[in-house]
Amino acid sequence: MNAKLDSTVTTRPVSRQTFDAVLVPTYAPAAMVPVRASGLDLWDQNDKHYLDFTSGIAVTSLGHAHPVLVEALTRQMNTLWHVGNGYTNEPVLRLALALTDATFADRAFFCNSGAEANEAAFKLARKYAHAKFGPAKSRIISCLNSFHGRTLFTVTVGGQTKYTEGFEPLPPQIDHIPYNDIEAARAAIRDDVCAVVVEPVQGEGGVVPADQAYLDELRVLCDKTGALLIFDEVQCGMGRTGALFSYMNYKVAPDILTCAKALGNGYPIGAMLTTNELAIALSVGTHGTTFGGNPLAATVALKVLELINTPAFLARVKEAGAKVVAMLQQMVADYPQVFSLVRGSGLLLGLVLADAFKGRSKDIQKAAEAEGLMLLIAGPDVVRLAPALIVSDEQIAEAGRLLRIAVDRLIKVA
Ligand SMILES: *Cc1c(COP(=O)(O)O)cnc(C)c1O
Repeated sequence: MNAKLDSTVTTRPVSRQTFDAVLVPTYAPAAMVPVRASGLDLWDQNDKHYLDFTSGIAVTSLGHAHPVLVEALTRQMNTLWHVGNGYTNEPVLRLALALTDATFADRAFFCNSGAEANEAAFKLARKYAHAKFGPAKSRIISCLNSFHGRTLFTVTVGGQTKYTEGFEPLPPQIDHIPYNDIEAARAAIRDDVCAVVVEPVQGEGGVVPADQAYLDELRVLCDKTGALLIFDEVQCGMGRTGALFSYMNYKVAPDILTCAKALGNGYPIGAMLTTNELAIALSVGTHGTTFGGNPLAATVALKVLELINTPAFLARVKEAGAKVVAMLQQMVADYPQVFSLVRGSGLLLGLVLADAFKGRSKDIQKAAEAEGLMLLIAGPDVVRLAPALIVSDEQIAEAGRLLRIAVDRLIKVA
């Protein structure tokens, strides 16, 4: 097939049906197609308004089209886009200084997604252990129901077999243990383990925060066995829980931290942060990526970091989180047949469905969307909320009002 590109092809009308015709069907997107957005306000092709409590899965944490980010990106777009890894660039140097200044880490590696950040972390852990202890120390321990990305390595480390089925053979030496289970961790973390990876708040797995004692014990077990502790903060990092990174809430420092999603507020960028001692395992030529840390992404991420990492901003995230929790707890109290409990941290929250509504998170999401409220799900039994961190009290109240209307409708037809 060698069809000539018709000049009308790039401007012809498109709709949700176009997705079914020409996209690889890896997703089942909503019926409405968003076209523009500002802050937490979003409009679809029919100019219907939505209040966005998804942030594109915890990505646009400063809201859509944040003016400071637009200004910074526009300026950089007129200055320098890309130079390749044969050169470094000023924005990426500034970003690395800022991230290492703000965290336990001494060094950063930049890439384009959460999966790539985790891929780098797992490769670093294997390489470091290989060099220091030999090839026998190669096992990676991860948690059931965890999510670490969709490359073959990261999907295998992730704890959901539905994402690996049919993609075998999988990379070996990867074991899974139940989350928050200290005894299981003690049994699994032996001398042949090179890394233990955990989400301090499991996101896709149902919005489940780690117990303090669990992360404390993982730190102890890793120190005892020489395994590296990796925190996947792709979803719970960048201020989402009211701390720049959620490890700061727990006061347990990892050896490697991965970050992506909100780091670029929608401009693709991921980062792996680590210490001097570990970083040298990835010497010149051992790992890389074409776009990682390009000047555009680094410029946006630096501004995002500046805006989020202030005591006042983070305190407001905690305050707003408490207000959303109060709103959701009222829903649980008023609709006990629908909702059973609220869990999560900061502005990453899960509304767990009651037995009678088990398996119906998608129905609630759709009902809310019909009322103009965008919500996420985290599996069939949990409605997930991740509004932009700049959400106002009025928007929280409005979300509660819309959710109530949606649930009333759903109960009536049930
Ligand atoms: C989204 C997510 C990833 C994967 O990030 P991508 O950018 O989609 O590759 C990894 N880990 C966690 C915890 C995530 O939430």
